[in-house]
Amino acid sequence: MLTKKLQPVQSFLSLVSRSVGHFPRQHYDVIVVGGGHAGTEAAAAAARLGAETLLITQKIHTIGALSCNPSLGGVGKGHLVREVDALDGLCGRAGDWAGISFSILNRRKGPAVWGPRAQLDRQRYREFMQSELLSTPRLTVMEGSVEELLVTDPNPEQPGQHRVNGICLANSSHPISASSVVLTTGTFLSGSLFIGQTTSPGGRIGDAPSSAGLSHTLRERLGLKVGRLRTGTPPRIVKDSVDLSLATLNPPDSSPTPFSFMNTHTRCRPEEQLPCYLTYTTPGVERVVRESLHLNCHIQQDAKGPRYCPSIESRVLRFPGRRHQVWLEPEGLTSDLLYPQGLSMTMPPDVQLRLIREIPPLHKAEIHMPGYGVQYDFVCPTQLSPSLQVKSTQGLFLAGQINGTTGYEEAAAQGLWAGVNAGRRALSKPPVALSRTESYIGVLIDDLVSRGVTEPYRMFTSRAEFRTSLRPDNADLRLTLKGRFELGCVSSSRHQKAVRVKNSLQDALAALQALSLSTTSWKRKIPDVHVSEANSNMLSGIEMLQYKDVSFQVLASIFPEVLLPFMEFSQRLKIEAVYRPHCESNKREIQRIQEEENMSLPEDIDYLSLPVSLSQEVREVLHRARPSTLGAATRLEGITPAAVVNLFNYVCFAE
Ligand code: FAD
Repeated sequence: MLTKKLQPVQSFLSLVSRSVGHFPRQHYDVIVVGGGHAGTEAAAAAARLGAETLLITQKIHTIGALSCNPSLGGVGKGHLVREVDALDGLCGRAGDWAGISFSILNRRKGPAVWGPRAQLDRQRYREFMQSELLSTPRLTVMEGSVEELLVTDPNPEQPGQHRVNGICLANSSHPISASSVVLTTGTFLSGSLFIGQTTSPGGRIGDAPSSAGLSHTLRERLGLKVGRLRTGTPPRIVKDSVDLSLATLNPPDSSPTPFSFMNTHTRCRPEEQLPCYLTYTTPGVERVVRESLHLNCHIQQDAKGPRYCPSIESRVLRFPGRRHQVWLEPEGLTSDLLYPQGLSMTMPPDVQLRLIREIPPLHKAEIHMPGYGVQYDFVCPTQLSPSLQVKSTQGLFLAGQINGTTGYEEAAAQGLWAGVNAGRRALSKPPVALSRTESYIGVLIDDLVSRGVTEPYRMFTSRAEFRTSLRPDNADLRLTLKGRFELGCVSSSRHQKAVRVKNSLQDALAALQALSLSTTSWKRKIPDVHVSEANSNMLSGIEMLQYKDVSFQVLASIFPEVLLPFMEFSQRLKIEAVYRPHCESNKREIQRIQEEENMSLPEDIDYLSLPVSLSQEVREVLHRARPSTLGAATRLEGITPAAVVNLFNYVCFAE
């Protein structure tokens, strides 16, 4: 098991750290820069595909670091974790290994929008990621800082197209070449840290920013449009100094639900889980924020912060007079610290202490590390194709916070996708795309490359048009087989399990469908349930399961011979039955959209002089965004339905 692997990992770590500057090879298929949430998934995915991969990151011991909150998943984000897992990515299994408090959020709503979430032990999460990466075949992990990209200028045959050939490390004269390079530098690109009135260069506290050379190459050499965003993190609080009796206990689920399709249980036993606590801000908090605004330079800056995970300063300024939730969350099974979610702040440390002590359970609290803010450059993601390759630079892929997103899950999903495509490019395979009709990963990437970002982007279920079909419970059915045969990133053991589950579900649904009884017979068998007379005389087992109070277990107790063999899938079958009518009606719509989505727009199309009726504004939007499909064009801001029809006719005619 993993604990056994960790011993060799530690000695390997020191070996790698010592061997910086001596490269095992001079050429790799894929180089991934950055060992955060995007980089780890990218490197592992490229290696799974069969590409010789090098992961270079500033510090090996920070691989898998959770820069901010020690948690994974949630509403929308949990969908991404399940999908990354269905494509054999790491974060779901890491969450099951490191989770110390599991809950399914949004249970009052339908299962399509349930949010699997876990509070994590920071140390265990890092251990898992490091252990996994350091034992991945075809993957070399190296400590170092990438100073520059090796880039060739456009040649006359492909005007405007640069090509990336590898990287140069700081303090080394040896370039390393590669067919594809994936940049996942997170908040480190021209990163600056802010506490009070103090600013210093940095990507995260304790870590230097990426070198100026890298930013310079992206901006000046490749001509990429770069913007500036900001985020922040709360102070970490000494647990013993908090009076938790003044907060509301929020226990985890009594039976933890694993993230990973491959796991039947989590490492943490149900009774070992730790609770979270809920408390609220007081008017005193707002007063301290207002009094200290002049001492807080982060909040005065222009860069946009995350709207859905705002600092306490932004919250009280936007919604004066309200009380705001603060969650007190454990940082680990044996950690002495608490993470106060909702209290991200950047005022001077003495003011931070005054502020937190305005909250009743924290009235005597001590701060272990103050909160701080970070500002960083991001590359406007409309400059990427759906494979996450930079349109104007062959072989250069970008993933994670560098694309303007926020959150571990968003980063992991992009990392996996960039790793798959970077690996495919290196192995001379064509790029692949995921549609927004089949996955949240497809929604995320389509939103980024066709709409771009104006503030840090995070995933919500409301972003997915077909959320009744894209459920966390069916990520394996949607993606694992595709991942095995079309993408090449899924192992045979996962594939075999997915096929077994798929076949069993199909058999169970067929058995339920075949159980056809009259309404009167069903009423006799399940007298507690009000079977509607409006229904036809005969009802199948699937139709019965659609009734709120009819569980699969009830049906299995009535028809044990037929249904008992499928008991392990009882919850999935109930969900499948309930959503069946929605999914059927989705199918036609999805088919229409898929036809539209898949219609490629020629790469060399000159929108500014296209001989069709388009307004100048529409032409400019299309010219800037260069959507790769008609589907992507329809979702661009400013594109009218009439413009889409004209474009559609032009493409059909031109083809
Ligand atoms: P990161 O996890 O930042 O990883 C980047 C990696 O690249 C690091 O390992 C770094 O060492 C490495 N690297 C950088 N430059 C180089 C180079 N030149 N050479 C080699 N290696 C390099 N998310 C939320 O959802 N909610 C929040 O409230 C939130 N708050 C945050 C607060 C702070 C202070 C920070 C720093 C981040 C916060 N995040 C938050 C964001 C979350 O941490 C990121 O979204 C996520 O970690 C992004 O993953 P990533 O892989 O893109 O980058």
